[in-house]
Amino acid sequence: MKMSKMYIRTLRETPAEAVLPSHILMIRTGMIRKLVSGVYGYMPLGKRVLDKVEKIVKEEMDATGAQEILMSALQPAELWQESGRWGAYGPEMWRVKDRNEREFCLGPTHEEIFTDIIRTGVSSYRQLPVTLYQIQTKYRDEARPRFGLMRSREFIMKDAYSFDRDEEGLDESYKTMYDAYTRVFTRCGLKFRPVEADTGAIGGNGSHEFTALAENGESSIVYCEHCDMAATDERAELRDDPPSSESEAMLPLEEVETPGTKTIEAVADYLKLDKKQTIKALLYETYDDEGTLSGYVAAFIRGDREANVIKLANALGIQEHQIAFADEEKMSVLTGCVGGFTGPIGLKNCRIIADSEIVGLKNLCAGANHSDHHYINVNYGRDYTADMVVNFKMIQEGDPCPVCGQPVKFTRGIEVGQVFKLGTKYSHPMHAVYKDENMKEHDIVMGCYGIGVSRTMAAVVEQYHDDDGIIWPVSVAPYHVIITVMKTKDETQMQLAEKIERECAAQGIEVMLDDRDERPGVKFKDADLLGIPVRITVGRKAGDGIVEYKLRKDADKTELSAEDAVKNASEYIKGELARYSHEAVADL
Ligand code: ATP
Ligand code: MG
Repeated sequence: MKMSKMYIRTLRETPAEAVLPSHILMIRTGMIRKLVSGVYGYMPLGKRVLDKVEKIVKEEMDATGAQEILMSALQPAELWQESGRWGAYGPEMWRVKDRNEREFCLGPTHEEIFTDIIRTGVSSYRQLPVTLYQIQTKYRDEARPRFGLMRSREFIMKDAYSFDRDEEGLDESYKTMYDAYTRVFTRCGLKFRPVEADTGAIGGNGSHEFTALAENGESSIVYCEHCDMAATDERAELRDDPPSSESEAMLPLEEVETPGTKTIEAVADYLKLDKKQTIKALLYETYDDEGTLSGYVAAFIRGDREANVIKLANALGIQEHQIAFADEEKMSVLTGCVGGFTGPIGLKNCRIIADSEIVGLKNLCAGANHSDHHYINVNYGRDYTADMVVNFKMIQEGDPCPVCGQPVKFTRGIEVGQVFKLGTKYSHPMHAVYKDENMKEHDIVMGCYGIGVSRTMAAVVEQYHDDDGIIWPVSVAPYHVIITVMKTKDETQMQLAEKIERECAAQGIEVMLDDRDERPGVKFKDADLLGIPVRITVGRKAGDGIVEYKLRKDADKTELSAEDAVKNASEYIKGELARYSHEAVADL
């Protein structure tokens, strides 16, 4: 296709709000266009990339035997009320009303809809297992939409749902999808890692996230170089240090003056203690499904540890958005806590959660709930108890691996997909059942599986770029070859360029021809920015049938006859397409 006829607008300037390379480059290449915060449109080149990612996703889903359908974004509130998520989903859900005040949402996900399909369509074990999927637009009113397609408020997701008779069936469906995801992301050219994940608002009892490795990624993942352990930092478990020895005596509780020591560092310093001998207080308020304040929580953890708020929310049976740091002044009136001097002894009207580690440690120092005072020799059981004892420690770089005990490492990534074992979390409340061979009724056992299709595009750019622009892997490149004509007005050059264009097209290669009336420098800059894998430059030597051949990913250029350039391009592109094909990854 001739660039002079294409709608392409590249920008020299970096858009002010864009910080990530993928965001900057997708705006600068004109691939995406912002409408309002977190809402983007796909322009011609962006749409081609999106289509290619979708095609890969479809091929891999179809190969598993899953069937594609397409459901509406608009979903009636009643289905979400049945599953119990209308309230629990929180402010991310885009709620709308029709003219008769009936409530709907713009679907952030589709568990309820697919469960509803299956409960009306499936009655017998003979109809199971079955997996359905769709590629469709999702809406989430994200608190902080940012990074372009990475975290947007409208985005494209592939979501699949599996329906099985029992847990063994689910395990199989889950494994099938897990393997398909491995193939999808490999075919998109991504360097990624599947990691164990928390199940969040979706629920269920087993999950993995597929994380594209990227230093700018929002996900923090923990892994071990000595064993296979890899998990999100929210999910990874940090084991308790061993308890104090049996022989250590509990010393008498004593209140001591600790003027101005509002932090763990300050009090440990003042009393000449190791931070490991102190208890840190974390004060939270919680909210019910309507978003109303429902109570206070004081969580206690060893002074040198950090809290994992997801684990606290899970223990409390609430969602992440239903817990936040407390307004200490308000909390103090009701509970007796004192900012900087809060301890578990004598607190009232709040739930006390103790980290499992401190329960086994003797003679710790904790706030006395009096200004400028701490207790020393605080012991669990004797001096205080908790409403809940939970391991809610956040793992840190160098902490022991929960599996093998060696020090763990951290890396960052972009969550491009997630798979969940849902069990009967939706089928039970929504009464999606089947009858077995003996006509006995059972809840259908479900799994759900999401891929952020638009986010995957951004993740590819995040991994494949340099200072000059994008470097597309061939499998998702908007075009395979760009022919740059140095002087469009030169007939010899244009004729040779058009001949190359025809020959490439005849080989099934997707080619764009830069015939714009622009300076060569501008054309080269745009070709690099757009990241087309092969560039063939037609210039002064066109009369001799000589062109310049260059791969976007390599620095070197070679002079070749036009025939050889077409042959090289064709071999390279076909080779890369084969390398990223379904057949090539079938064993993954
Ligand atoms: P995150 O933790 O990043 O908010 P999530 O865990 O809430 O994502 P899921 O419910 O697992 O997301 O959705 C499936 C996939 O959809 C995710 O793995 C991700 O790739 C994609 N996705 C989720 N939220 C967004 C968003 N706001 N913008 C673009 N893609 C998204
Ligand atoms: Mg997720």
